[in-house]
Amino acid sequence: MNVNQHSSHPDQDPFGLSAFSDGLYIGGAWRPAAGEGRIEVIDPSTEAVIAAVPDATLADAATAVEAAASAAESWRETPPRKRSEILRRCFELMVERSETLARLISLENGKALRDARGEVAYAAEFFRWNAEEAVRISGEFGIAPAGGNRIVVDYQPIGICVLITPWNFPAAMATRKIAPALAAGCTVILKPASETPLTAYALAALYEEAGVPPGVVNVMTTSTPVPVIAAMLADPRVRKLSFTGSTGVGRTLLAEAAKNVISCSMELGGNAPFIVFDDADIDAAIEGLMVAKMRNAGEACTAANRIYVQSGIHDAFAEKFTRRMAALRVGPGVDPDTECGPMITRKAVEKIERLVADAVSRGGHVLCGGRTLAGRGFFYPPTVLVDVAPASDMGCEEIFGPVAPLYRFETEAEVIAAANDTEYGLAAYIYTRDIGRGMRVASKVEAGMIALNRGLVSDPAAPFGGVKQSGLGREGGQHHGIAEFMEAKYIATSF
Ligand code: NAP
Repeated sequence: MNVNQHSSHPDQDPFGLSAFSDGLYIGGAWRPAAGEGRIEVIDPSTEAVIAAVPDATLADAATAVEAAASAAESWRETPPRKRSEILRRCFELMVERSETLARLISLENGKALRDARGEVAYAAEFFRWNAEEAVRISGEFGIAPAGGNRIVVDYQPIGICVLITPWNFPAAMATRKIAPALAAGCTVILKPASETPLTAYALAALYEEAGVPPGVVNVMTTSTPVPVIAAMLADPRVRKLSFTGSTGVGRTLLAEAAKNVISCSMELGGNAPFIVFDDADIDAAIEGLMVAKMRNAGEACTAANRIYVQSGIHDAFAEKFTRRMAALRVGPGVDPDTECGPMITRKAVEKIERLVADAVSRGGHVLCGGRTLAGRGFFYPPTVLVDVAPASDMGCEEIFGPVAPLYRFETEAEVIAAANDTEYGLAAYIYTRDIGRGMRVASKVEAGMIALNRGLVSDPAAPFGGVKQSGLGREGGQHHGIAEFMEAKYIATSF
């Protein structure tokens, strides 16, 4: 199926993509890019080209910043209640179209339809949550300790925001930024990942319908992000960069933003430990691990990357877990029976092959999977390894695939040290029936988010983010997400 065919008939264009097959979404309209280039979108389940989107150039970057600047003043002056109602409408439209959006995500990303449905629900929730937050932005008032002076703190929208998102959650990573930015009163330019631009454009059509004024949200795809993003960050009207992606690219962007001292929020890579103590409920821990490891076929920043199992239960745990992993149905994302879809690209499969080969060469044993599946599509089977050397590459790098290495440990102190032996610090998982121990270990593990006897941490109502080289700032949460898009202005006065 080519989803990009020009047709107004819903059967031939089920995703309504014909509107933007030739256009970037700038200033509330679909505009042709300045250049002739196109970016092909590949279905990872079949390797077929399913669409091609415009390839923005430096001229388009300038047009997008101009559009965001033109809309900035009236959007920041729009009453919070009105902004809230528009965001609420975005939520409602996403819910109405959730099945179509989920199918589109499955098609371009490859993830199992059940995961895509979960993503759409999660992504929509950022609109509902921030619609509620938009009317709760308040300031501060105090008396200076020396007396005489009053301290007034006003929170103002930070300005034009450049938002860059990855391919693994094409809807949620966009709404997690757009919704709080709009709630705060900012205008934005979104650059989605080149592998999954269709979802970002499908959502753009929805913003328009929800009443988001022209220029408040702009979306542009480019195959040359380095100069295009640098040009936008060099424009003094741009005051914020919010990035979700790999730690390596995050470092590069921090350096670029430093040239103009631009405020940065960085949601970067992870290397999550999943710790199971002897006293844990084994079935519950396996259930949690199936979610923490296999949601999105392992292509999640929060994915369990190093699974530490205490020696008393290690072998029984490994056996039960392997049975669950080996039984998963691998197939195309859009097939409703699929439990594990393909990887995003051939390169991603090759990386996993390298990590597994390295682990085996250092003494690791494969209990299931471990070999790339033949045929078309970027498939890698659910894989379990034991006896993996901690220094092997998969202990240090994000696996970003359906591969679960188990490490045996003896003591609490030993596992805390092992969990913290990484440059990353995004999510961590702990399973124990001893809540005192659970809280103690949670306080000592260096991560921005801890799941205690749970396999899922993400929640729009909770602050999401990492420590160490997993990032700077938080998204979501009661005030954290919006605060990233606001500046405190202090007014000294006396009366
Ligand atoms: P990536 O390679 O870092 O790319 C992310 C985005 O940055 C894409 O839109 C990409 O555009 C763009 N980009 C790449 N190089 C750039 C540059 N030099 N200047 C400006 N933009 C640039 O990451 P990915 O492979 O898409 O996503 C996987 C990574 O994201 C993993 O490390 C994962 O842990 C992380 N992640 C983190 C979170 C979190 O919340 N902490 C959530 C999800 C994912 P192109 O697509 O055009 O290259």
